[in-house]
Amino acid sequence: MNLWNIIDALYKNQTLEREEFIFLLKNRTEESAGRLADLAREEAQKIYGKKVFPRGLIEFTNYCRNNCYYCGIQASNPNISRYRLSEDQILNACQNGYDLGYRSFVLQGGEDPYFSDDRMVPVVEAVHTTFPDCAITLSLGERSLESYQRLHAAGGRRYLLRHETISPVLYGRLHPESMSLKHRVQCLYDLREAGFQIGTGFMVGAPGQTLEDLADDLLFIRELHPQMVGIGPFVPHHDTRFRDFPSGTAELTIYLISILRLMDHHLLLPSTTALGTIDPNGREKGILAGANVVMPNLSPTDVRKDYALYDNKICTGEEAAECIGCLSRRIESIGYQLEFSQGNYRP
Ligand code: SAH
Repeated sequence: MNLWNIIDALYKNQTLEREEFIFLLKNRTEESAGRLADLAREEAQKIYGKKVFPRGLIEFTNYCRNNCYYCGIQASNPNISRYRLSEDQILNACQNGYDLGYRSFVLQGGEDPYFSDDRMVPVVEAVHTTFPDCAITLSLGERSLESYQRLHAAGGRRYLLRHETISPVLYGRLHPESMSLKHRVQCLYDLREAGFQIGTGFMVGAPGQTLEDLADDLLFIRELHPQMVGIGPFVPHHDTRFRDFPSGTAELTIYLISILRLMDHHLLLPSTTALGTIDPNGREKGILAGANVVMPNLSPTDVRKDYALYDNKICTGEEAAECIGCLSRRIESIGYQLEFSQGNYRP
């Protein structure tokens, strides 16, 4: 096998055999990264131009029933102050974002039992009726098919649920036995059945993850064919069992962004906050390697530091307006522009 032939094959066929993906990951060099980034950026620009879609992220609850071992807001962490935003606070955050130009909101939270369907559906309806020209993305974790159907009927259109890893062994290392990979994957298919455009994804450099695991994640994504894929480096949180594990690298994350772009030219591919956290120019590098979405924070400033999935998260001290100002300057510095539309998805 030869790196350059494999890159050509990926470019031509938009996929590879498992062994080829593994080879591409294991034998990566600065040159192969540069080549992949050039091709990926070109493909993204053919479809999206030099545009990046901002999605305003509202982290509306940090209560969570689960204990994902890597995550700072897991239920068993006694050291964080828990909050949930009221419907009014959520609407205010959206209004603030709307006034700044956002037309796409993401409501994300821990799996907070308080937000049963009977409580969550009216929140989604309120955002939908107040901002009918905005796209609503939800990221509320695993729920039933019926729940997804009700949330879709309420106006939710997109749903982000990272599969985290498709390896059962690694999944078991990262999650307690009460959580199941099979169920998580079923949720993705249920979301699609309920009518959602779906986003999945994984952490790069999660404790115990191998390059073979990442190749399997790519093959799973190939099969699922989601509209969006969110990947970011694992970053340790000091209150978790993985506190002493190293972060994933920007280099590998960016390499995978390019591969994902070449696998699906229309894909919505965020350059994530976690990538900006481990590398001060991580988000810009992600865009130059094929990413086309950013997700700035619209949560009220006083709760931002409490939505700490990992340590040293950036942008927790800034107002929404400062955040988008800073980000648009960064995007412009690399010759791109923010595109404040709902953001087109591959049909
Ligand atoms: N409760 C929702 C939202 C999860 S938070 C759900 O289950 O989908 C969004 C994402 O943050 C997770 O899917 C996970 O991939 C990521 N995340 C959590 N802890 C992290 C960490 N320590 N480092 C990097 N990413 C992390």
